Amino acid sequence: MFKKSIKAYKEACEVIPGGVDSPVRAFKSVGGTPPFIKKGEGAYLFDIDGNAYVDFVQSWGPLIFGHCDKDIEKAVIKTVKKGLSFGAPTLLETELAQEIVSMYKNIDKIRFVSSGTEATMSAIRLARGVTNKNDIVKFEGCYHGHSDSLLVQAGSGMATFGSPSSPGVPADLTKHTLLCEYNNISQLEKCFEESSDIACIIIEPIAGNMGLVPATNEFLEKCRELCNKHGALLIFDEVMSGFRASLKGASGILNIQADILTFGKVIGAGMPVGAFAASKEIMSHLSPEGKIYQAGTLSGNPVAMAAGLESLKKLKANPKIYEDLSKKAIKLVNGLKEVATKNGIALQVNTRGSMFGFFFCEEEPKNFKEVGKCNFERFATFHREMLKHGFYFACSQYEAGFICTKITNKMIENCIKTADKVMKGLKNNA
Ligand SMILES: *Cc1c(COP(=O)(O)O)cnc(C)c1O
Repeated sequence: MFKKSIKAYKEACEVIPGGVDSPVRAFKSVGGTPPFIKKGEGAYLFDIDGNAYVDFVQSWGPLIFGHCDKDIEKAVIKTVKKGLSFGAPTLLETELAQEIVSMYKNIDKIRFVSSGTEATMSAIRLARGVTNKNDIVKFEGCYHGHSDSLLVQAGSGMATFGSPSSPGVPADLTKHTLLCEYNNISQLEKCFEESSDIACIIIEPIAGNMGLVPATNEFLEKCRELCNKHGALLIFDEVMSGFRASLKGASGILNIQADILTFGKVIGAGMPVGAFAASKEIMSHLSPEGKIYQAGTLSGNPVAMAAGLESLKKLKANPKIYEDLSKKAIKLVNGLKEVATKNGIALQVNTRGSMFGFFFCEEEPKNFKEVGKCNFERFATFHREMLKHGFYFACSQYEAGFICTKITNKMIENCIKTADKVMKGLKNNA
């Protein structure tokens, strides 16, 4: 059933390292060949062999309205016809900026970049520039893109390959990155005892790059308290959770406010966009207003802005969408849990808005180390079998899953029925 994809993958491997432009796409942790995608439509992906899949990945998060949403498509095409890029200001940038900052009390200004990696990298530079300090605190299993100083015990792609860091990143650059266990208050306190040079804490308030592992309230409160006490800034990396966990992301369901927010994924609706935002005082340090340099030839690209703007307008006009997505996410994971239990398989499940996660293990993991104790072989078998039956889940236990508006209850029911059969097999084999 993957004949053409197998051939395509071989050909790709000749000219692209590992055949892919982002490592996790290679399916290394579940084995087999990644299906090459021909097109998407609504909740479905179609590969070049003609297989159809219900897509629970949605380009790793951005496509909250699924593939080829008519409104987004129309907005993009209209913009494309006026030119692809100008390297000069456009009204679309201001409009998208207004849409986003008007939603949050703690941010006044936002700057657009072209990826989540750029967003977090720039946010860190801003935090260091504003505080005039050098160290940053990051947590094991949180992924903030692939910039040098953040590539220390990052989750997902990195975790899947088991590399704690990456060759090519000088130790000189990561020595300022203090690493703590997620949800571990005493380790965090120790960081602040050991260094008086901490510029910021960067955290995924709802981690989605070691599977779905939300931070506890007490832990986030401690992050806020320590930042206040030591003059450091708190960065919530909402590249994944923004407009996903709720309309206002993780910030919308927590009582804790960050100083800097980073965005990506949903704000581009499938186009390459990232952004970082803060109060006008903090943002005034950014060039050309201030001295901290940050730039991008294609930043605020009009086509990308148009896609994001249409998507956000739709979300804001109909906030009930989140109730629906959340219900479906819960229905899916509860169903999976039920059939797992029925088949004697230990499964831990979790959701936050339209994000969901499941782990093959006995107890709910609270940090990266605990995620590492899950049954990865079992996950790989489950993934392969579900794929064969037309359900496209993220190809690693270190990734979260996503519900889009085009996924129906019927699709979820079918998915659970299929999972029941697959788990029966798991019980006997893996
Ligand atoms: C995806 C992601 C990034 C990196 O974004 P890219 O667009 O892949 O560079 C950063 N932080 C988080 C939390 C993410 O999920």
